[in-house]
Amino acid sequence: MSDDTHAVIGLPVFPDQTDAAGRPATLGVLGGGQLGRMFVHAAQRLGYRTAVLEPDPQSPAGLVSHHHIRTAYNDPTGLAQLADLCQAITTEFENVPAEVLHALAQARHVAPAAAAVGIAQDRIEEKAHFTACAAVSGVMCAPYAVITTPDELRVVAAERADLLPGILKTARLGYDGKGQIRVRTAAALTAAWAELGGVACVLEKMLPLTAECSVLVARGWDGQVVSFVPQRNVHVAGILAVTHAYEGALPPALAEQARAAAVSIAGYIGYVGVLCVEFFVVADGSAHGGLVVNEMAPRPHNSGHYTLDACNASQFDLQVHAMAGLPLPQPRQHSPAIMLNLLGDVWLDASGERREPNWPAVLSLPGTHLHLYGKAEARAGRKMGHLNITGPDVASVKTVARRVAALLGLPGLDAI
Ligand code: ATP
Ligand code: MG
Repeated sequence: MSDDTHAVIGLPVFPDQTDAAGRPATLGVLGGGQLGRMFVHAAQRLGYRTAVLEPDPQSPAGLVSHHHIRTAYNDPTGLAQLADLCQAITTEFENVPAEVLHALAQARHVAPAAAAVGIAQDRIEEKAHFTACAAVSGVMCAPYAVITTPDELRVVAAERADLLPGILKTARLGYDGKGQIRVRTAAALTAAWAELGGVACVLEKMLPLTAECSVLVARGWDGQVVSFVPQRNVHVAGILAVTHAYEGALPPALAEQARAAAVSIAGYIGYVGVLCVEFFVVADGSAHGGLVVNEMAPRPHNSGHYTLDACNASQFDLQVHAMAGLPLPQPRQHSPAIMLNLLGDVWLDASGERREPNWPAVLSLPGTHLHLYGKAEARAGRKMGHLNITGPDVASVKTVARRVAALLGLPGLDAI
């Protein structure tokens, strides 16, 4: 991790710069999904070359990058090629082995650091981090217990009735609600742990949520921090469906508390890059009423996609600036926005046959911005794209969002 008070050798990397061997400035990303694709777009817009390391030959990011290294994330030859091509390297998903980032960091600027990604990879470490930060962030995570052995399971089942009903979550490799089982009784907990394969888990108390929100923070090598205004998120079946990003989407005091907490959660570990911190809003008057921190993603996040069309700089622009050591622009939102996720279901009819969504009708509505990720196969629950809706005022954005949702059969907009 860099020392905040000193310049980092070799940074900034300007897009028009060449190295001693005359090779152009190139930014690298581990992972070839949609987040990598939008990162590549942002880097290229500034004039950088890009390199993507991703085994899938048809990956969303690989398809649009200057270089696509088609190897496994831990392949020494592929990693050597990435390090050779790039001056700075980032990751687009948190399940890339932390050791890989650590090894790359011996030769190149890597942001975020392996240690930060390692925390976000493991719910046990993540919750320990949030707990350690609580004194400065002012926000706690949901009450929980760690279950890594049959003995720990027995103790938690016998003694932690306070955590029921709860959600048993695998410590590693969960996303979009996968690797989670809701449990109401000690017997159900025991069965759920077996069902999850007896791997390391946390049992988290189920809280009465009134809302969910997230904050995108970007932090530079020199400690400069900027953040977007917190956004409100609606999940359906464990997957983000809708993001509301406009004045009034969240109570201002709560939004400010979330923003400040996210900044301190990033600062506590000297984080470099874009970090998304997700929060629960718990009913006032209940035992854990107020803001509760859920998890963090060491990268741009689905809930920040609205920044592509509603802000003067997107979350991907900030990732590029942060990793390359450029000054971070102060993000400013110029339009109210609603983001609607487009899952594979949009392309499937009731019998599971592929159909073409009614794009002409959707795109003729004012303020609709379609982003598709170039994935060939539409599967239920698969993130295929998103649609940002912007407009001159919140009411018109909501009206268009409702029309789009009706046209495409999208869930999650009932409450607006
Ligand atoms: P992501 O795709 O964001 O990484 P994930 O699979 O890691 O998701 P979580 O964020 O832990 O899972 O949970 C998914 C959703 O389930 C949350 O956004 C929330 O709606 C609900 N949820 C999770 N934990 C709790 C809890 N303790 N109390 C109430 N609801 C919860
Ligand atoms: Mg989550």
